[in-house]
Amino acid sequence: MLVTQAYRYALDPTPRQQRALASHCGATRFAYNWGLDLVKQRLDQLQAGLDVQVPWTLPTLRTEWNRAKHQAAPWWAENSKEAYNSGLDALARALKNWSDSKAGRRAGRRVGFPRFKGKRRSRLACRFTTGAIRVEPDRHHVVLPRMGHIRTHESTRKLARRLDAGTARILSATISQAGGRWSVSFTVEVHRAVPDGPSAVQRRGGTVGVDVGVRHLAVLSTGEAITNPRPLDHAQRRLRRLNRQLAGRRGPRAPDGTRRVPSRGWQQTRRRLARAHARVANARSDGLHKLTSQLATSYDTVVVEQLHVAGMVRNRRLARAVADAGFAELRQQLAYKTTWYGSVLVTVDRWYPSSKTCSGCGVVKAKLPLSVRVFACEACGLVADRDHNAARNLAALVNHLVAGSGPETRNARGGDVRPGLAGQTPPKREPRTSTLGKTGTAEPQGPAA
Ligand SMILES: [Zn+2]
Repeated sequence: MLVTQAYRYALDPTPRQQRALASHCGATRFAYNWGLDLVKQRLDQLQAGLDVQVPWTLPTLRTEWNRAKHQAAPWWAENSKEAYNSGLDALARALKNWSDSKAGRRAGRRVGFPRFKGKRRSRLACRFTTGAIRVEPDRHHVVLPRMGHIRTHESTRKLARRLDAGTARILSATISQAGGRWSVSFTVEVHRAVPDGPSAVQRRGGTVGVDVGVRHLAVLSTGEAITNPRPLDHAQRRLRRLNRQLAGRRGPRAPDGTRRVPSRGWQQTRRRLARAHARVANARSDGLHKLTSQLATSYDTVVVEQLHVAGMVRNRRLARAVADAGFAELRQQLAYKTTWYGSVLVTVDRWYPSSKTCSGCGVVKAKLPLSVRVFACEACGLVADRDHNAARNLAALVNHLVAGSGPETRNARGGDVRPGLAGQTPPKREPRTSTLGKTGTAEPQGPAA
């Protein structure tokens, strides 16, 4: 089976390489903003009745760029042409997302018109698709166009082995900076052996429901609570402390009195906070990878809830926001790992009240605030941990539907309580039309770079 996978490595660049990395990412941002400015100008001209072409796709943007770069960026030759291409590519995608969203061809949250990338707000990144992109045999260096040999912070062993064995091919490399640290992410095409049947892995079989919690990484319908990995707990405590510190450290008011000048202490705390965020994300990712591998190899069917992640990110509470980010990652990992290991992922659409339903008798509570950690049923007297109850409902749902009507699709509009089950498809506006889908057999999907 051919799958696309990402391998990410932290880099230890020399000061000179750091400048080159920053220069390339800056060039990417420059090309993006340049292209966006051009598109806006042309749109205005079009509106004014002029007969002009609006460059909307990567090839047309590239043509315009090549024509204008000597004037717009006389220094363009300092960076690989891939840097500018990377920015124009991002712009073309953003434009397409916007027009698709406007025309109703794109599910999920409405996408706004692309905005200029600010120096501070935007994430520094640049993608290389051609040129010298390699992992060196010493397993501690990578080669990137223009940058040459850059030392990696950790060993590239896993990827190097696959490349040596000829079972992997690098498609692209993306450099990025987060929390003061540079890293490279390789998008790799990998030939994976599919374990043929449950015998190939230690499979317990059956169905498991997974509820992603705030206090735990996840709670399973089996009652197993997967605790947060220790580095994560530690990093989260530090994050909370720094957040408090940041609130306390503010600069003096500017002379005009309208804003505050950032103090040195505030800036320092902000840098530390960025590093702490990166550490939390890494620790969580490690924990989630272990969990999702275990789930995909141990069970035949894994049931998770399809939360409206785009909407939840707006929730301001830190703990919740962090859990939501973890949830999105968990689902993404499960989507491709179930494919690898031959199990099935079922996502339950978000109208199903998994937390508010009693897993003993099926009575649905009208309200259950997030602060209430224990589910207590007035009807049958069941008392269970909130997340465990939710996970049990998710598992029971699939068992119920599959046992009732055979394995293939079934329209779930039957009862009031009975929810729709959505497959890999994004949440539909109309909850009643969704059907049970087996996503484990969907096309291979790896974590995109
Ligand atoms: Zn009950």
